[in-house]
Amino acid sequence: MDKKKLLPKLSIQSVTELKGVGPAVADKLAHLGIDSVQDLLFHLPLRYEDRTRRTALGSLRSGQEALVAGQIQASGVRPGRRRSLATVIGDGTGSVTMRQFHFKRAQQENLIRGQWVQCFGQVRIGSAGFELVHPEYQLLPSADGVNVAPTLTPVYPTTQGLGQKTWRHLTRQALEHCLDDVVELLPADLTGLEGLPGLQAALMLVHRPDPDVDAAALAAGTHPAQVRLVFEELLAHQLAVVQRRMEREQSRAPVIDAPQNLWPRLEALLGFSLTHAQSRVVEEVLSTLAKPRSSLRLIQGDVGCGKTVIAAAAALAAVEAGYQAVIMAPTELLAEQHLNNFERWLRHVDVPLAWLTGRLTAAERRVACHRLATGEAMVGVGTHALFQNDVTYHDLGLVIIDEQHRFGVHQRLALRDKRRVDGEVPHQLVMTATPIPRSLTMALYADMDISLIDEMPPGRQTIETVVVPNLRRAEVQARVHKACVAGRRVYWVCALIEESDVLAAEAATDRARMLREALPALRVGLVHGRSPVSEKETVMRKFRNGEIDLLVATTVIEVGVDVPEASLIVIENAERMGLAQLHQLRGRVGRSAERAACVLMYQPPLSRMAHERLSTLRKTTDGFSIAEKDLALRGPGELFGTRQSGLPQYRLANIGRHQLLLPAVQQAAADVQARFPDQVAPMMRRWLPCASALSGV
Ligand code: ADP
Ligand code: MG
Repeated sequence: MDKKKLLPKLSIQSVTELKGVGPAVADKLAHLGIDSVQDLLFHLPLRYEDRTRRTALGSLRSGQEALVAGQIQASGVRPGRRRSLATVIGDGTGSVTMRQFHFKRAQQENLIRGQWVQCFGQVRIGSAGFELVHPEYQLLPSADGVNVAPTLTPVYPTTQGLGQKTWRHLTRQALEHCLDDVVELLPADLTGLEGLPGLQAALMLVHRPDPDVDAAALAAGTHPAQVRLVFEELLAHQLAVVQRRMEREQSRAPVIDAPQNLWPRLEALLGFSLTHAQSRVVEEVLSTLAKPRSSLRLIQGDVGCGKTVIAAAAALAAVEAGYQAVIMAPTELLAEQHLNNFERWLRHVDVPLAWLTGRLTAAERRVACHRLATGEAMVGVGTHALFQNDVTYHDLGLVIIDEQHRFGVHQRLALRDKRRVDGEVPHQLVMTATPIPRSLTMALYADMDISLIDEMPPGRQTIETVVVPNLRRAEVQARVHKACVAGRRVYWVCALIEESDVLAAEAATDRARMLREALPALRVGLVHGRSPVSEKETVMRKFRNGEIDLLVATTVIEVGVDVPEASLIVIENAERMGLAQLHQLRGRVGRSAERAACVLMYQPPLSRMAHERLSTLRKTTDGFSIAEKDLALRGPGELFGTRQSGLPQYRLANIGRHQLLLPAVQQAAADVQARFPDQVAPMMRRWLPCASALSGV
């Protein structure tokens, strides 16, 4: 019987129509956003295994994944540190040992001398030559019964409890029954699609590549079939971003007219004049605030370029127009620093401020909330406590978010929703020190207006950067000692690969103890993610005031900390960190006219990649070229740090790898929007996880 006739439009039917999908599996699939049979076709493999040909045992290479077959020569339990079942298999050209650390008696009984067997697994070098540890294996009736796969075997991204066999079984059914129903949403003449296969052919190839496929291209994500799908995926995301912008601009926002009084008064009192870039960006910001449309502007500028004062200009404009402004920072430390600046600045112009973080006592919090709700305080400074449910504002006109990539979209929206007067929303200003390459900016932030501060305040010295192996720790300590004795302040950063606060805190604590012993003349302070807040504040204050010479820290100081007197930073385990992160950390020094230096310590031997990272950093101090390099070397996740939450989740696309497609994607998005507006919604539905379908940003 023809299954297609039996189940018409299988593509839009629930996955529960497929064999092997009961409520439990359906539930797991639903968590991955897979509801219909067609959704399965857009769940794409991460990589492939090649079981299409048998590899002779004599030609195995270490690290390779291989399908091998042979006759068992010997099998037995080996005692040792870890007991294992070792089975030696030979095929006349060589031999390999299959090793199982967990095995059942029945298995042991089947693996007997003379039995034919095939295995698939990764080859590694063991104590007695090549080994396959826990390979998939199958007993064979004879020498010529070897089962080779007709296509490369896809490996799918998965979740606990869904094995690769299940995925293969499900995608096979989906390919059989609904590939023909998958609708081509893109016009064939779309620029960018030239020479690429059609959608159905691309899906077929990506799910089940032929044995003679260009495996290198497939592994690199550059096979035309993959490019076809990546193009469509990027296009769907681009359409979503454009749509978000259109939706946002439909909301009204309060008109904040160009200020005559407060900001000019503060500017005169700053003690420095703005750089050209700062003045230009202030203009850009004020001009968007003066419009009645809901705005979202990103201020991008390398560490130390002076973004905070722009935030002050914007906040004062709002206050002068009669609206409140809030400034939110991602960490307690950074929020405090803003508090210091804003308290000082706002006092000059008599604007009352409220301080709100999660660390206030109940009574303090009540007072702060009351002052924000009544409008007694016109500016709020703090952390995400500012947007909690019970915090209300008298009349919020402007939301400023520092280091915005540390926050999720939801948090930004929660703050925006604090004003709903006649359907109006506050303006939003977000700031980031992560230099984002242009190609990425266009893809990720097309829904924002962008201001770039591409100039440093005058008199900044370039930071001398040296790369030193751990062996020379004594020399580094001597340098630290000398700097502190000369009255400078020094950071010493300990970092681990793992994002474990506990381990990082331990490492920093140990290091502080060691440095206190080695350098008894210095006053050594310690901060890490697990220090009690009051202690963190005290230590930071002392470091700022010069009561501490040497501050040992984890990467908690990575973002935003501004102590201009610090002129030397030592970073341990630099080889484990990404370029962008190192650049951020290095930006903690060189914030005054004094000569500054950064010492990057590493544990040899350096991998080629780590070597390249460290030498890039030594050679350049320009955040943008560092970002371009980092994007190319490690991809966008690394650029923003792993905790970053605002990056889109792509199924197949990799912005670093596929950035060359972005200009064509943008053009195609405009084209589709203009000529085929009806295709936009289905495209987005097809590719975007529910979270990105989030509207009204
Ligand atoms: P970031 O952009 O990294 O947030 P900040 O706003 O913290 O930078 O500014 C870094 C330092 O530079 C601060 O001490 C600030 O007062 C100072 N600064 C900002 N603008 C200027 C300027 N135009 N001239 C001199 N110093 C400035
Ligand atoms: Mg800052």
